[in-house]
Formats: sequence, C-alpha cells, structure tokens
Amino acid sequence: MVDVNELVRENVIKLTPYSCARDEFNGKTGIFMDANENPFGKLNRYPDPYQRELKAKIAKIKGISEEKIFLGNGSDEIIDLCFRVFCNPGSDKALTFTPTYGMYEVSASVNDIKVLKVPLNESFQIDLQNVKPLFSDKNLKLIFICTPNNPTGNSMNSSDVEFILSGFRGIVVIDEAYIDFSNKPSFIKMVDKYPNLILMHTFSKAFGLAAARIGMAFSNPAIIQYLNKLKPPYNISTINQKAALRKLDKVEEYNGQIIMIRRERERLSTNLGKMKITEKVFPSDANFLLVKFKNATNIYNTLVNNNIITRNRSSVINDCLRITVGKKSENDKLVKTLKTIAI
Ligand code: PMP
Repeated sequence: MVDVNELVRENVIKLTPYSCARDEFNGKTGIFMDANENPFGKLNRYPDPYQRELKAKIAKIKGISEEKIFLGNGSDEIIDLCFRVFCNPGSDKALTFTPTYGMYEVSASVNDIKVLKVPLNESFQIDLQNVKPLFSDKNLKLIFICTPNNPTGNSMNSSDVEFILSGFRGIVVIDEAYIDFSNKPSFIKMVDKYPNLILMHTFSKAFGLAAARIGMAFSNPAIIQYLNKLKPPYNISTINQKAALRKLDKVEEYNGQIIMIRRERERLSTNLGKMKITEKVFPSDANFLLVKFKNATNIYNTLVNNNIITRNRSSVINDCLRITVGKKSENDKLVKTLKTIAI
C-alpha cells in the first residue's frame, strides 16, 4: 500500500499554511469584524475558502463523501497543485501518454519538472510494455492518464489504468473531464481502493460552466488536505460557487444537453465520415471528434474564413482537426461548409 505522506515534498509537509479569517470562524451570522472587508454591499464578504455548501451538493451527486473532494480554479489549478505537492523542481519527473491534454506539460515546465512522454499505440491505448520499466525511476512522481483522452476522444482500457494504479508507487492523476459524454464507468469508486489516485472532473464540460472555472478532485482525505494546504485561500469566488450550486439543481437541463450532444456527435460523425475529404473519423467518448482529412490545414483555414473555428491538431496527429460538437444548427453549418470544399 502506498503511503501518500511519504510522497509529499518535504517543504509542503513542513509548511504552515496561510490562516485566513474564515478559517477561524465559519458561522454564517454575526457582526463580521475579522477580515477587513467593507461592511457595505452585496459581494463585500470573502467566499467560503472550503466551498462547503457546494461540496455537500457535489458529494450527493457524485456519491462520495465531502472530505474526499477538493475544488480548484478549474482543473488547471488542480494540475498545478499536484506538481507543487508532489514534485521537487529541478529533479522530479512526471509521465504523460501522448498525444494528450497540453496543460500537463505546460504545468510541469512552470514547476521545472521533466516530462517523460510515452506515445499511445496505434489504437490510442497505453502501451504497458513501455511504462513498466519506468515504475522503478525514483524521481518519477506523477503519472497523468486522460480518459476519455483529449484530443483522441477514446477511453483508456480500464485494466491498463488499474495496472498502473496498482503497480506504480507514486501518484496517478486520472483526468475524466469528458466522462459524462461516455458510456464507460468513472473511476470514482476506485478512490477508496487506491490511496495514490487523484481523479479529476470539471464544471467546464458537461455542466456547461467553463466561465466559472471550477474543477473537482476526488482523492483520499490526506491528499485533499495537502491540496487545501497549498491552494490560495479564496480560490473560488462566491459568484462562481453560486453559479455551480444553481447548475447542480438543474439536473434535467444538463442531462438533456448531454443526451443532445451525444446524439449530435453520432450524427456529425456519420455526416463527416461520408465526405470525400475525410480520411477517418475516430470514435469518441467525448464532446468532440478527432477527424483526419486529406489536407487538414487547408480545411482548417477555409473553415476559419467561414467563421467556423476548429482546433488544428496536425502538429500532434498528422492531418487531424479536433471538432467540438456544437448545437444542431452549428453542426449543420459545419457540414454544409465542408460540402462546398468537398466539391
Ligand atoms: N482536462 C482536460 C482533458 C481538458 O481537455 C481540459 C480543458 N479543455 C481541462 C482538463 C481543463 O478543465 P478546466 O476548465 O476545469 O480547467
């Protein structure tokens, strides 16, 4: 069994975190003269630093207890905190399976951490033979697994992910930003089984709240406490906490949107697949499609000229665009525009 305390950086263990006024008193009523706030106005008070009301609601929806939840200013803040809790700048390493979400590498560089990149195989799956020898590297502290993966859209084989969780003596971050668009089960139930697992979800995708910048981490309470220790005290604004609370009350609304997006994904995939300019539409468990074209950059530019913005991923996967599934009318416009190129 991995003892997570042994994986944490020494300076983090020793650190005395900033103690904010609302750490000492967190009641809701009273005459507040503790935080140097302006007594007038509506947004005059600092937010709850631990977002208790929001976590209580997330706990119910996700079926996990509150002390296993951390909320960040987007998943991007959580990624950065993982480096800061577990990786010593200049000597430690992280591992990613490429191509994948770019922030793992950027965040690693910001923290002066070396990234080992193991390419996904031809089916965009993890090649365990290439991973196993790296487990013995004492400086390898973090492994990032993105499933469903951005930009390939597929989910990783769960047996491969479990092999890494049980074989690796460091921290495994599983990024499930797109899980709600998939039929596959989440790894959230594995949080109790693997103390070295940090699982990430986000409000930015299926919940439709990208502007609010709220990411979720689910992990064992010891890791959650270390993340709390390092985060800026008021990392999620009151406005954004309230927006998330309101969103979680609209279960039917966001579930309906997920169904629509999935249906549109299949329709768009079929329509794109029929076009002469298309080489391949890769299967997707996410809210986007990775599409290989005969000349992706030409197509990307033509789409931009028609005010349709996609993501040109040709630099990481030859001749591929990543296309986010839009509303029905938007998808129709994309297909119609592509048909003019196809002729
Ligand atoms: N993980 C993945 C795989 C993503 O693709 C993205 C954003 N595109 C994020 C995390 C970032 O999520 P957030 O908006 O919560 O920072």
